[in-house]
Amino acid sequence: MYYHLLAYTRISNREQHLFGIIALESTTKMSRYKVRETIRSMDQKGCIQIVERNRNGHMIKVLFPSEIEGLVVESEEAITALDIEGLDFYKRRQYLESLLERDSNRCIYCLKKVTAEKCVLDHIKAQAIGGDNFYRNIAISCHECNSRKGEVEAIDFIRSLYRNDILTEQEFHERKEYIEKVTTGIIKPCL
Ligand SMILES: [Zn+2]
Repeated sequence: MYYHLLAYTRISNREQHLFGIIALESTTKMSRYKVRETIRSMDQKGCIQIVERNRNGHMIKVLFPSEIEGLVVESEEAITALDIEGLDFYKRRQYLESLLERDSNRCIYCLKKVTAEKCVLDHIKAQAIGGDNFYRNIAISCHECNSRKGEVEAIDFIRSLYRNDILTEQEFHERKEYIEKVTTGIIKPCL
């Protein structure tokens, strides 16, 4: 939740932003009660400041970790790790190289070798079913996989590649594991 608020404000060069409770419910997948409780608790801890509260939602000012009183940011690495969470890896093409490096210059699904000119950015969880543009959901794909995958779940898509002999059984299991590591943020792109 904090990352989401940070991404919409300070990382996007906005001092503050009006967040609707219903919109926050759907992006964070939390209940309305939990959203309100989390906002209240972050306000109490000093991570955010509620500037105004009205019918349309909360006008919130978000503080960077370095500005939060009493919070010690341990290392440069922690700051980088935090900042990367709010970056739009889909719209901001300058991160393409770091994604290519993370995915070893291969299509994340079929393992075909690709280059910056011959690849597309793919939403692992399709946008149509709520996939976002953060690094955990954006991967390097070849044109064929990108257009064939559509709204299919990544796991079902790579299973279809295995059934069609595009991936071996071993490659299928490796891909499954790799995609899980990407979507859970275990493997991160280096900026
Ligand atoms: Zn492919």
